[in-house]
Amino acid sequence: MALTGMDIYKMLPKKNCKECGFPTCLAFAMKLAQGGIEAEKCPYMSEEVKQKLSDATAPLMKTVKFGYGEKTYTLGGETVLFRHEKTFVNRNRFAVMFSDVMSEEDINGRIERMNKVSYVRINERMYVEIAAVKCESDNKEKYLGLLKKVKDECKDAVPMIINENAEIAKAAVEEVKDLGPILYGANDQNYEEMVNIAKQYNILLGVEANNLEELYKLVEKIHALGYKELILGTKAVSAKKAFEDVVNIRRTALITQDRVFGYPAAVFVNRLSKDKFLQLSYATVFVEKYASIIVLDDIDYSIALPLFALRQNIYTDPQRPMRVEQGIYRIGQAEENSPVLVTVDFALTYFIVSGEVERSKVPSWVLVPDAGGYSVLTAWAAGKLSGKSIAKAVKDFGVEEKVKTREIIIPGKVAVLKSDIEDALPGWKVVVGSEEAALLPKFLRDYISK
Ligand code: SF4
Repeated sequence: MALTGMDIYKMLPKKNCKECGFPTCLAFAMKLAQGGIEAEKCPYMSEEVKQKLSDATAPLMKTVKFGYGEKTYTLGGETVLFRHEKTFVNRNRFAVMFSDVMSEEDINGRIERMNKVSYVRINERMYVEIAAVKCESDNKEKYLGLLKKVKDECKDAVPMIINENAEIAKAAVEEVKDLGPILYGANDQNYEEMVNIAKQYNILLGVEANNLEELYKLVEKIHALGYKELILGTKAVSAKKAFEDVVNIRRTALITQDRVFGYPAAVFVNRLSKDKFLQLSYATVFVEKYASIIVLDDIDYSIALPLFALRQNIYTDPQRPMRVEQGIYRIGQAEENSPVLVTVDFALTYFIVSGEVERSKVPSWVLVPDAGGYSVLTAWAAGKLSGKSIAKAVKDFGVEEKVKTREIIIPGKVAVLKSDIEDALPGWKVVVGSEEAALLPKFLRDYISK
């Protein structure tokens, strides 16, 4: 159970010296109990107490890492069951499954499709982060051959070694050790050897059991061996059971405050169905509750687009709109005679609009006023996008010094603002643009050819 402020206070040196930045030891204890600071801030604690407090005040769900360099990923560390209570912090990662009993053609097809998935949405590049490589042949050479192929050809993915044979697992980790792989497959029979491998290479270890009771006992045994870089999974083959398992793991960690289940979870949606789009539907459920690694058979664009968009939406702070900085943005080689378009500072709107302007190949300026982080119509309805706010942005961002043109293009959906803007911006003419961003390329080409 978590320690209270008073429990912590009893362990402190009670000097009230303020060196921790708090006026009293009691104030420090209260803050430490809330998880807002680290025990190390007090220089007078014994190492034993410091360790005890660090363990007791650590997040209920552990944060773990895998990968390498810029492709280092963090999983877990969640503090709430429901996103609207605060926010989810470490987004799940998607994996494509490979097996050493698959045909060459099938393997090549999956590699080609996953490598093709690479695009930018709201300033973030989307791609498949994990290649899960399963050993089903029990043939070391065959498995290592597949792992090497995946390592060489899946350009963005970190390998997840799925293997219950400790001897093959060790050789596999050695093959890809520089990529910070995940070793998945510790079970009741092999856990001691698997923990030794994970410890030796300092990598994330996937632990799996038939059900949650067995999983709980297995994690306790692994804790007794001193290893805590874990991700948990069950062998559920129905969506209902898999869902119950991940929800119970998360609830046990956060509500019962039992750190045995205080780890991120993995779900293999490819075990729940062989249908591509049913796998996609299940994956959307587990993005929301509560898988940190979701393994599918295959990820092409038709799977990636909805999944990555959903993940990006779920793993944002619901109390803060996703905004871009207000200002005047230059798209292409825009110069003093280039068109000036207005949009809003809601990130999704801005990136869609700027993407369409780029697609038009018409160098342009995009003016982003303070619109409260809302979409165009919401900002207008909330009074955040008005003639005054647009005129203020024109002045604040020096638009009149950047361009000779005195025309400004506004989104078609707020055509009603035309006269307001012209009143607030004497000398400027307002042109009503297209209603939809997708129509901007045609609109801009027509506009400059007039
Ligand atoms: Fe108390 Fe330690 Fe803070 Fe000093 S540094 S006030 S002893 S908690």
